Amino acid sequence: MFATLSDRLADTFKNLRGKGRLSEADIDATAREIRIALLEADVALPVVKEFTAAIKERARGEEVSGALNPAQQIVKIVNEELVEILGGETRRLRYAKTGPTVIMLAGLQGAGKTTLAAKLALWLKEQGKSPLLVACDLQRPNAVNQLQVNGERVGVPVFAPEAGNGSGDPVAVAKASIEEATRKLYDVVIVDTAGRLGIDAEMMQQAADIRAAVNPDEVLFVVDAMIGQDAVTTALAFQEGVGFDGVVLTKLDGDARGGAALSVRSVTGKPVMFASAGEKMTDFDVFHPDRMAGRILDMGDMLTLIEQAEKVFDQEQALKAAEKLSGQGGDFTLEDFLVQMQQIRKLGSMSKIMGMLPGMGQFKDALANFDEREIDRIQAIIQSMTPAERDNPKMIDGSRRLRISKGSGTQVSDVNTLVDRFHEAKKMMLQMARGGGMPGMPGVPG
Ligand code: GDP
Repeated sequence: MFATLSDRLADTFKNLRGKGRLSEADIDATAREIRIALLEADVALPVVKEFTAAIKERARGEEVSGALNPAQQIVKIVNEELVEILGGETRRLRYAKTGPTVIMLAGLQGAGKTTLAAKLALWLKEQGKSPLLVACDLQRPNAVNQLQVNGERVGVPVFAPEAGNGSGDPVAVAKASIEEATRKLYDVVIVDTAGRLGIDAEMMQQAADIRAAVNPDEVLFVVDAMIGQDAVTTALAFQEGVGFDGVVLTKLDGDARGGAALSVRSVTGKPVMFASAGEKMTDFDVFHPDRMAGRILDMGDMLTLIEQAEKVFDQEQALKAAEKLSGQGGDFTLEDFLVQMQQIRKLGSMSKIMGMLPGMGQFKDALANFDEREIDRIQAIIQSMTPAERDNPKMIDGSRRLRISKGSGTQVSDVNTLVDRFHEAKKMMLQMARGGGMPGMPGVPG
């Protein structure tokens, strides 16, 4: 996502490097390049115009100070304007003061609503809420089933018409679900509604009827970021037909150009509240305009990484490992190494984690080719070792190496490399620890 846009903007900034002052011609040329970059990323034309006009005006304006060089000035302005069109402040979910909070999802079929419903439910659960999923997509065959399967995956109950798929009145189901939630003390109700492949009056009416019946605290419009310019048309149609309070962008992991993300909020005036980027239930997060802008400008997304790391990292494990690595609290073993690796793994793929670190944009190609299976291989090798071997890799002799390689489906040379590298890395870390240069949190890349 945004790869091309990031590259184009980086080129634009590069052209400004070394300039002592920006002439009128420099500003025009820069604005033109940014305009092309945005249009290529599928950003809607009115948004592009507004954006480049703001850049030009500010670049010419008095705020141009001596503290930053021209390239830095432009980066700063572009960053601030990006944050602005992405919605400025992070918009948090509003909860009902009394009774269950009702969140209704609307959007086209295939937008990712059903998947999103479960992701949101999981996220709410992690916030200490007790959500109830409600199946009101009674149109699409199998939609009820799909929600039930997803609900099970995240451990959240699903309220559905008893007859199951393809039957029942969605408005009645939605109403009944609120009664159920009130009775059973669920505090958030997530209503999944039907979508169609295209915008359609009947579907809009149904969504509007559900809205009127349950009076949601939040209506979220779910849109597939990969549909490009169509996202804007669809958003406007839903705004008129149903109305919504916020937007959820899905499939941000795709290789789309990202224009939807940059346009929808400007065109509808409604904030992007959540972003969903992957097939896994945990690939979901609150949308932060500032961090997204940072990511587009390739300043890295340390905040998201740290937040995610905090969520999945087992603090106790991390501390234990830190002590061991600093030469206290016993020996750092291959078992500890395995645990650390599995913790990092929980954050997502290596290339994704690396992609969030600042300045990693230049290694994009290498990251794209990063072989995730290498990690799997290392895990398999360690898992094929006995506990004694993990504690004391020195005991791994020739015949043990052969057994481990067989057990893990690797070559003896792979086992050798791993053991050698482990010893080297450990030595290095001990030296660092003695020199006082120990990184605070072991296992966090970078
Ligand atoms: P609905 O018709 O709006 O309920 O859409 P679904 O939830 O059934 O999603 C449609 C397809 O998109 C499914 O194959 C999902 O697995 C996939 N999908 C949903 N969200 C994401 C996402 O964030 N990333 C990717 N890559 N696929 C997604």
